[in-house]
Amino acid sequence: MSQGPTFLSCPVCQAHAAEEIWLEEQWQLVRCTDCSLVYLSNPPSEEELKSLYSFESGFHTQLVDDAASIEAADQAAQDHMSMILATTATGSLLDVGCSAGSFLAAANSAGFSAQGVELNPDTADLARARGLNVTTGTLSDVHEAAHSFDAITMWDIVEHVPDPIALLSQARELLSEDGWLWLTTPNIDGLFPQASLRVASSVGKWPHPEPPYHLMQFSEQTITDALHRAGFEQVVVKQQSIPLGYSFGSLQKMLTDPRRLVYAAAFAPLAVLGPLIGRGDTMLVAAKPSPSQAPIDLRQEESVTDLTETAPTPLLETPGTLGRSPQL
Ligand SMILES: [Zn+2]
Repeated sequence: MSQGPTFLSCPVCQAHAAEEIWLEEQWQLVRCTDCSLVYLSNPPSEEELKSLYSFESGFHTQLVDDAASIEAADQAAQDHMSMILATTATGSLLDVGCSAGSFLAAANSAGFSAQGVELNPDTADLARARGLNVTTGTLSDVHEAAHSFDAITMWDIVEHVPDPIALLSQARELLSEDGWLWLTTPNIDGLFPQASLRVASSVGKWPHPEPPYHLMQFSEQTITDALHRAGFEQVVVKQQSIPLGYSFGSLQKMLTDPRRLVYAAAFAPLAVLGPLIGRGDTMLVAAKPSPSQAPIDLRQEESVTDLTETAPTPLLETPGTLGRSPQL
């Protein structure tokens, strides 16, 4: 694949200085020396990105008829739904990057009025064949009124887009004042990614960054910073672990490949340990928009104050830096 235009500056803070931390084939991963965001300095072009996300390129073809993959997607959707239901009343929901619609189906079953948007036209078709309300395209193609949604979800999406601030800002515009944005994204500063980076050069492989699909690599610090820049106020982060089967392959694969087995034996314990010490290899994030900057009208001071009342915060177990949020 050829390269698209090189990022001339950090996609989040616009600083120009960055240091290379990994090179895989032609893909160069750098860390911004100002805000610490890790990003692909030479991402695919917009057209190439579109073509990556299609059945022709093999993306998510397993969701057509592979029962184990479909079951795994449905299970992940149920897990996410349970987390949201524990903290949020049902209402209108938008799932960005909804793929074949497992989470939309779970949201509808739970009582939400859910719709989705999906760049991959093939998985969007699969979702519509299930009777789900799905737009093919990006969040820019969702033409709903501002503040239309009580919840917006992005499961492993924000690391795939060239302009995460634009994406998060669009979500903030579509979200109701009391709504919450929920997202997941890998954590570049997790224990497993950082430990495996130290041996990556000698084994010639670092599986964490997944270029050219992942254009950004966030950490708790940089996703929080990006959300603040996009107009979100409260940000709650829960450190988690990517399913071991995704990171290391099946037990059967390990047993037929001694190198894979050794790699898993060395690093699977760190992947499990990471979330327990606040350094998981993926993060669940909930964020609430900042209150609208409505002009203060003294005659209506009381109603202005009402707008800025703090909605309940989702309870995510966040030992360490974030402290404990109010229990609902
Ligand atoms: Zn930066």
